[in-house]
Amino acid sequence: MAQQLYIDGTWRDALSGCTQAVINPATEAILAHVACGAAADVELAVTAAAAAQTAWGSSSGTDRAAFLRAIARGVEANQRPLAQLQTANNGKPLGESRIDIADVIATFDYYAALAEQLDYSQDQPVALPDLAFTASLRREPCGVAALIVPWNFPMVTSAWKIAPALAAGCCVVLKPSEITPLPELALAEIIDRARLPRGVFNLVTGSGQEVGAALTAHPAVRKVSFTGSTVVGQSVMKTAADDLKRVSLELGGKSAALLFADADMELALDIVCGGIFFNAGQMCSATSRLLIERSVAAQFISRLKQRVEAICVGDPLDDKTHMGPLSSHQQYLKVQQYIRQGIDAGLTLVTGGERMSGQGYFVTPTVFADVPCDSPLWREEIFGPVLCINSFDTEAQAVTLANQSEYGLVAAVLTTDLQRAKRVSSALEVGLVWVNSAQIIFPQTAWGGMKKSSIGRELGPWGLQAFQEIKHVVTAVPH
Ligand code: NDP
Repeated sequence: MAQQLYIDGTWRDALSGCTQAVINPATEAILAHVACGAAADVELAVTAAAAAQTAWGSSSGTDRAAFLRAIARGVEANQRPLAQLQTANNGKPLGESRIDIADVIATFDYYAALAEQLDYSQDQPVALPDLAFTASLRREPCGVAALIVPWNFPMVTSAWKIAPALAAGCCVVLKPSEITPLPELALAEIIDRARLPRGVFNLVTGSGQEVGAALTAHPAVRKVSFTGSTVVGQSVMKTAADDLKRVSLELGGKSAALLFADADMELALDIVCGGIFFNAGQMCSATSRLLIERSVAAQFISRLKQRVEAICVGDPLDDKTHMGPLSSHQQYLKVQQYIRQGIDAGLTLVTGGERMSGQGYFVTPTVFADVPCDSPLWREEIFGPVLCINSFDTEAQAVTLANQSEYGLVAAVLTTDLQRAKRVSSALEVGLVWVNSAQIIFPQTAWGGMKKSSIGRELGPWGLQAFQEIKHVVTAVPH
């Protein structure tokens, strides 16, 4: 298993020789020691990427697509070990890791197809009002891209950046989270076997404060694509501003599920539980605030309690497990602190809230009802399996409550009245609305949100455009 940095097509130790332990959050055992890079390693990686940029950026989309498809096939051929490795490192149940890997394959295949289309869509004529001139539009790679990702969906967040960046013709330096570097190291082995030209793809493990900050500040980096916390995203944007680097940010959320009395309640139970207990709630898109129409609130909460208490929390490698541990000790402490704060504040604890004994960072699925809108549990991103419930009387009130957040990533609308679903969807200040569905993402649809949740969009053609510059060529028609 790779544990070194991948720079200029070569595996190498960090220049300092330092390594860092990687922990299995279900057992607290050390899984590996990986190279702990620093600014000097970033210098080597960015230099390699910059040296490869001209050739890669001027290669044909069809050639780049062939590499992307080779990566997709490499991931496909290694689904089983990749799922096991990701589950061991991140703690999500094996079934969830399999879903992630299917997403990774679909993303590389999707951007391979878009890369091929680039060969046919370049130099499109642009109509001008003055016939003395012609104009054409080119899209060019924006240059070396730094890709910085978190630990909650390690391979997925990386694929959402690597695939469009390479498709667009950018050379990249990837920095995985120090908590979950193993899935990305395995992905880098697959990329290595796909035989990309040297320097096109580089990976530097290490801390955000060292490696992430050095990447963000490096003058040869033209684009920073970051997924993580809002607070670090803000600092990335400030640093990138010095060189006016292009920036894409995918940050936090405190999303709402709006449950109307006419909804299919069985489906609603699935969607509400999936929206907060999938990946133990460690999702920027978690629908962690549930708004229920008051007339059905008591009945729904009683059914929800039964459903939540049936969630099997345990060994993520066991196929019977619904929810694994949190991904790190730090996250475990943070979530426990929020739960304690809710209990101490006298919030109505519907279920959960107890500590789980034994090894591993396990937390019981927890639900609080009647949570006041000024409670930190209602306003702040907990990033754990903690659902907060509130009630509403009218559609307008539901929308107002849902929009009362500094974030604006996603929302779920649960109703059988599709006219209402349309009205509510257009009134919600979010980037993606799931109507009678939740947490389903296709490579073809845009990913990102409004307010403090995002700058820009990933996936779809927007994800590709995020790594491109627009160039117009205006030519005088010869007399
Ligand atoms: P961070 O924002 O700290 O980490 C995300 C990535 O940024 C990691 O690779 C991290 O490195 C890196 N990083 C950290 N500091 C810097 C920096 N100064 N410059 C550049 N890169 C940096 O998120 P955490 O993983 O610490 O999680 C904290 C909170 O963020 C969570 O509790 C949650 O609320 C939110 N979060 C949101 C996610 C989302 O998808 N929207 C995903 C993960 C977290 P390293 O990990 O190696 O330090």
